[in-house]
Amino acid sequence: MEKSVESAGRARQKRPGFLEGGLLLLLLLVTAALVALGVLYADRRGKQLPHLASRLCSLQEERNFVKRKARGIPESQEGSEICTTPGCVMAAARILQNMDPTTEPCDDFYQFACGGWLRHHVIPETNSRYSIFDILRDELEVILKAVLENSTAKDRPAVEKAKTLYRSCMNESVIERRGAQPLLHTLEVVGGWPVAMDEWNETVGLTWELERQLALMNSQFNRRVLIDLFVWNDDRNSSRHVIYIDQPTLGMPSREYYFSSGSDRKVREAYLQLMVSVATMLREDENLPRDSRRVWEDMAQVLELETQLAKATVPQEERHDVIALYHRMGLEELQSQFGLKGFNWTLFIQTVLSSVDIELLPDEEVVVYGTPYLHNLGSILDTYSARTIQNYLVWRLVQDRIGSLSQRFKDTRVHYRRALFGTMVEEARWRECVGYVNSNMESAVGSLYVREAFPGDSKSMVRELIGKVRAVFVETLDELGWMDELSKEKAREKAMSIREQIGHPDYILEERNKRLDEEYSNLNFSEHLYFENGLQSLKVGAQRSLRKLREKVDPNLWIIGAAVVNAFYSPNRNQIVFPAGILQPPFFSKEQPQALNFGGIGTVIGHEITHGFDDSGRNFDKNGNMMDWWSNFSSQHFREQSECMIYQYGNYSWDLAEGQNVNGFNTLGENIADNGGVRQAYQAYLKWMAEGGKDQQLPGLALTHEQLFFINYAQVWCGSYRPEFAIQSIKTDVHSPLKYRVLGSLQNLAAFADTFHCAQGTPMNPRERCRVW
Ligand SMILES: [Zn+2]
Repeated sequence: MEKSVESAGRARQKRPGFLEGGLLLLLLLVTAALVALGVLYADRRGKQLPHLASRLCSLQEERNFVKRKARGIPESQEGSEICTTPGCVMAAARILQNMDPTTEPCDDFYQFACGGWLRHHVIPETNSRYSIFDILRDELEVILKAVLENSTAKDRPAVEKAKTLYRSCMNESVIERRGAQPLLHTLEVVGGWPVAMDEWNETVGLTWELERQLALMNSQFNRRVLIDLFVWNDDRNSSRHVIYIDQPTLGMPSREYYFSSGSDRKVREAYLQLMVSVATMLREDENLPRDSRRVWEDMAQVLELETQLAKATVPQEERHDVIALYHRMGLEELQSQFGLKGFNWTLFIQTVLSSVDIELLPDEEVVVYGTPYLHNLGSILDTYSARTIQNYLVWRLVQDRIGSLSQRFKDTRVHYRRALFGTMVEEARWRECVGYVNSNMESAVGSLYVREAFPGDSKSMVRELIGKVRAVFVETLDELGWMDELSKEKAREKAMSIREQIGHPDYILEERNKRLDEEYSNLNFSEHLYFENGLQSLKVGAQRSLRKLREKVDPNLWIIGAAVVNAFYSPNRNQIVFPAGILQPPFFSKEQPQALNFGGIGTVIGHEITHGFDDSGRNFDKNGNMMDWWSNFSSQHFREQSECMIYQYGNYSWDLAEGQNVNGFNTLGENIADNGGVRQAYQAYLKWMAEGGKDQQLPGLALTHEQLFFINYAQVWCGSYRPEFAIQSIKTDVHSPLKYRVLGSLQNLAAFADTFHCAQGTPMNPRERCRVW
């Protein structure tokens, strides 16, 4: 899992997590990240919401289960007591309902563990993907709804602001009454949207300057269009910040949508139609002539321009070698290498920084990541008129803001969203608002969530689990024949240096600590101005990130809020984070057997630790500095071990995505993390028992503790996708599809086959296995 808090900068460009993309906003941000954080699960867009799957099953079902139990499962674990506390009963019921004991676990363990869940759930009309993970996120939103709507409490300023932002979002009657007016006002500020004006070329167009326009979009609206410029931790010096220049994200989630045939064409057409519809509506509202031919021409030009940009970008799978991507240079070199037909880089960068009163230094350095893109950009800029470029820049702002306008604007997105996500219905307003406020005010909302739902004493138990899994990672280095002693020693040091953050930062609960309120001191929301509140958030987010340029890196900063069901690894900080939101069943509970905790949060811990050693994380040392600490021998063999997994996962053909194969390159880092995570957590569990740990037996389940470990591991990933979203995910999600996360990692683990007595040659006990860590 990966990701970060700040809304500008690399933080938000986390790789998509496990789930699907979240709101459109998140999606836009997701694609660009390079070394972003390692996330456990993709964020999803359409919507997510569930309820816990912890209904109790009836006695009748229980009897049936026993009769139909799969071969190879013993009646009970000798010597352990049956636990009948509410926590154990709930866990047992959940596990029973999710599994399909009629399936042979050695043939298809995913179906065995998740068949019951899959049979009992239909993807809601609002969702593009639906899984146990998504349901946890839905339930978290229910908690946030209650705390954000609670108006009886006397709140500190940060919390009051979060509630005001929420109420402004829920204030639909005012939003309806205001119609397009707030957007039209904004368009004036950004120099107009030519397609929705008369005579742009003859007026504003005469003094239009690309450099200032890009700077305005970047610093005032956090729209990093055409050229991505942001401030982030310097990969080569983790204690300081530096300016990065990279290829930008696009309006659609991935470059292939711009030129591939087949189902991608439908998305492309819906995207163009969306631009045309919005422009047409704005012209109406401005009482301009319809002029549909001109609107179509303008928007078709925009799509053509963006298609050229898409082709100029480098595909994600060719951007895995961060060391090769990193080019640090001074401003003169930047200007001479990437002239872009007269583009004034100093003017552009200085204008962005002036928004936070920072002066460029004479010897200021920038890090260029998107070298090939920038080489291609010059001739593209040369081909298109100022009008088309301005139409495009403003479109990207408009696209981002449509969702905060009245219903008729939101309705224009229906076809596009259906093509992209397969969803028919927008999520409930309150869910949208809860998600919006949480992602914009993570600390304030986190404080409400933690007070309401997080038992503080779980921190110490999770810390202990981290210690156990980390110890196993270090011990099992000895088993690796592909690595030499020197590199093992470095790996050991790095693993021991990983810093952990669990639950939430303390200061968000400290009433007398002003820090929480200071975080939001620049925000002044109004209940009646949702649209303007959103603009404020964009601006403050962008500037908070830019301002860091002259600040040292704060090693204690939390890169994500507490009310988040996910987990993260940050290579620049060599740090793992487990927010309060994930420290709940099925991942973790003091009230459930340790087999479930090790199979749940234990595997997540192992996953995040292993990110420090995946194809991307391995390029950073124990202090988060990008640097090659590998011997040639070990480095060479790392690649060979990885190739095995690239091939293995690349051979999974995914029925939901029109039979396309998983991209073994793009998912490599996550697959390495999944494989390492389950192996380490399982080993740590065995070790815990061998050292005298006594685990509890669950009622109604004739399964060994070891079997329970693997079932809980698999069940976290029970879920399904809409075909449209499967097609999108296979392009954009750095995680493998849920099913293959489970199958791929367990096929590689001989201990799994032993636990379920799988005969050699059955699908879950293959002759060939891959292993990196
Ligand atoms: Zn991950």
